[in-house]
Amino acid sequence: MTLTLRTYPDPVLLKKSAPVEAFDDALRERIAEMWEVMYEEGGVGLAAPQVGWSVQLLLMNPTGSKDDRSGERVVINPQVVKSWGKAKDQEGCLSFPDILVDVTRKAGVRLRWQDEHGETHEEDVNEFPARIVQHEMDHLEGVLLVHRMSPVDRIRYRHELEELKATLAAKAE
Ligand SMILES: [Zn+2]
Repeated sequence: MTLTLRTYPDPVLLKKSAPVEAFDDALRERIAEMWEVMYEEGGVGLAAPQVGWSVQLLLMNPTGSKDDRSGERVVINPQVVKSWGKAKDQEGCLSFPDILVDVTRKAGVRLRWQDEHGETHEEDVNEFPARIVQHEMDHLEGVLLVHRMSPVDRIRYRHELEELKATLAAKAE
């Protein structure tokens, strides 16, 4: 299976994804493919539904650089145990090219997740990594940037959103 990036309003992006149950080689091979897609597209995070795979799995690397992989995390079946504060900042999404909008998120979250070997981790995540995690976790619930943007931004980006719909409709024909 070759994984390709899905853009809004691809139906897989609007679905709630299923938990990962098998931590096997097939899972790890797909994760390796997802890293390739993320770096190729210039992302700092990528959720499995964005490549048409409806499971609770996301990747992140706040540097977005293949040359600095120290911040890489494979986050499977994530849960927010607790959260604190609020932070507003600009956000984009690989599934919404050319759209950047202000989104208010929690300033930090205590995250519990499993890695690609099924090991459980728990860690406090703040600042930019916290924003990435919350954005990617939205994807696992079928919640997208278009659902988080203000009414003003929805009008401002009306044309871009229509273009995305038209592009996908043309592909389907
Ligand atoms: Zn996204």
